[in-house]
Amino acid sequence: MTPVQDTLTVDDVVFALRWSRRRQTIGISIPRQGAPLVAAPVGCRRAVLERAVRGKLAWVRRKLGEREALPQLAPQRPYVAGQTFPYLGRRYRLVLSDDDGGGGSGHRPAGERSGSGRPGSGTALVLRQGRFVLPSGLAADGREHLVAWYRRRAEIHIGARVAHFAALTGVTPAAVTVKEMRSRWGSCTSHGRVSFHWGLVLLPPAIVDYVVVHELAHLRELNHGPRFWRLVEEIVPDYHARRAWLRGAARRYAI
Ligand SMILES: [Zn+2]
Repeated sequence: MTPVQDTLTVDDVVFALRWSRRRQTIGISIPRQGAPLVAAPVGCRRAVLERAVRGKLAWVRRKLGEREALPQLAPQRPYVAGQTFPYLGRRYRLVLSDDDGGGGSGHRPAGERSGSGRPGSGTALVLRQGRFVLPSGLAADGREHLVAWYRRRAEIHIGARVAHFAALTGVTPAAVTVKEMRSRWGSCTSHGRVSFHWGLVLLPPAIVDYVVVHELAHLRELNHGPRFWRLVEEIVPDYHARRAWLRGAARRYAI
């Protein structure tokens, strides 16, 4: 039996409405994608549903707002010379080099220092003189190398920003983890562990800082109430703008 697709609109929010014979209560949930969902017992009057949903509307809007800030890291792009990739909000062109990625290549100018991710990053990709340089033999696995590089840079950059803001605000996270997150840029547990998506280092430093401050503020306030936002505002007075940026412009930073 195919469930009947029904919708419920409250103010400007359209919910997918699912009727269930087994339910006794009205349930509201926010899936990772698509419309927010209302599960309702069969026979429940729409006026009752609307009232229940209206009471939760602020929560629904907040959850939808958070969801819009999802990392967009899925697109597969060709890793060919000339393609650009972001790092801390700036784009750098990819150059394929002839060397094998083992280092010590003779045609590399002597004494060159770089913002390389090579130490411990597990990739031969480097950022050198404003370019990503990848040995051409590794181009087929370009994304893998780029991600390994970003991960390492994220650990360094985010680690430093956490230390900076932790000292500034007098909070100490129990643990800081950089990883791939499915639906968020950052998170904080009730045990004081904060996590960040490595993809944050694609975005401008001011945005990374906002996410770091946001998660650190959760060490004091685990909700998104007025007291939480006041804590964020003390450190990031223009957090509204950075948050709006994260919801909109962050999408352009796909790799
Ligand atoms: Zn939060």
